[in-house]
Amino acid sequence: MSSLPPSVVVSRRGAERVGSGHPWIYRSDVIAADVQPGDLVRVTSERQRPLGWALWSDQSQISLRMVSVDSVDSAAPADSLWGDRLRAAIDYRATLGIDATAYRLVHGEADRLPALIVDRYDDVLVVQTLCQGMDRRLAEIVAGLVEILQPRGVLARNDPKVRRLEGLAETIAVAYGEVPERVEIREGRILHDVDVWHGQKTGLFLDQRENRQVAAGYARGRALDGFSYHGGFALQLASRCSSVLALESSSHAVAGLRAGAARNGITNLDAREANVFDELRELGIAGERFDTIVLDPPAFAKNKASVEGAVAGYKEINLRALKLLNPGGHLITCSCSYNIDEPLFLGVLAAAAADAGVTAAIVEKRLQARDHPVLLNVPETYYLKCIVLRKLA
Ligand code: SAH
Repeated sequence: MSSLPPSVVVSRRGAERVGSGHPWIYRSDVIAADVQPGDLVRVTSERQRPLGWALWSDQSQISLRMVSVDSVDSAAPADSLWGDRLRAAIDYRATLGIDATAYRLVHGEADRLPALIVDRYDDVLVVQTLCQGMDRRLAEIVAGLVEILQPRGVLARNDPKVRRLEGLAETIAVAYGEVPERVEIREGRILHDVDVWHGQKTGLFLDQRENRQVAAGYARGRALDGFSYHGGFALQLASRCSSVLALESSSHAVAGLRAGAARNGITNLDAREANVFDELRELGIAGERFDTIVLDPPAFAKNKASVEGAVAGYKEINLRALKLLNPGGHLITCSCSYNIDEPLFLGVLAAAAADAGVTAAIVEKRLQARDHPVLLNVPETYYLKCIVLRKLA
């Protein structure tokens, strides 16, 4: 007879959370756990009602990440669970008609693979295992990816700080094959030379891919791209605009941006090392005007405590951008702070327009690209807002 699987008992509040479709159970809702870090455990209510299966963490405030829920999947997870889930995630991306060779293949909880990120950069995969349970299964996940996709190499880019919350070390290592220093990828008509070892996130901001294409559709005349990084937006705008001014505070990113412009034969782009807050003010004082403006700042609100300051920051840059815009021009404005939800962000934009004395229309409300799905019952997974505004005459 096989031994009983490790199991964890959760409070009524924890059980209700699972019932509401949320995959996380916090430490305060765990009642009893005789299990090892990273175990795949059976989750039950105090009355022994089975709730499903989850990955256990003995360090994080998120103690349990549900992998299967009894109301959905009645049987215990099969050995093929991880391989099946990887295949489903990868098959889904193949249906999206993505016109790029870099995109997300696995987006954690939204693919029912908690805390697992897999990004494709041409024939190289970049993997992040951000909880104890996934980290313990890294070799198995990599073997599954190799079997399905036969990549040239897999990089375990396990340097995000969130790993500290799980008691996991920050490391970067080749997990399979060969991973070159730089990987060339294509996004639409634009080529990017990506540093998957050290670039931000896993190399590029893949979640903005579709918004970059949408922004290019509105682009015309004189354009400004604020918070440009390697010019994800700026390079896409260039062929549709008479000129593009890209603003970025990191000299290293500005160098990457200029190299990207040269690689793509773009000659109408001025990449300036500057603080967007200061530069927008200066441009306003100088009476400069633009027809297309993109704002894609880093997350100003990293936690609840910083929401107030973040709101002030978002308001300031959007107010200044709306003033710089010619009538009929478009502002493509983003927030990747999940602590600033869509209604709050729209409120900030409305306040900015009112203070600027500008009448603007909402043309589109967008979110992160479809390879980064939002889970309906998990508000935390809707983090990226992208609003297209048109300034009226
Ligand atoms: N739009 C980019 C991603 C932007 S990420 C893309 O599509 O790929 C945000 C960028 O803003 C980072 O590169 C960061 O260095 C830069 N940044 C942060 N604060 C800034 C500031 N005050 N002024 C200018 N750039 C800033």
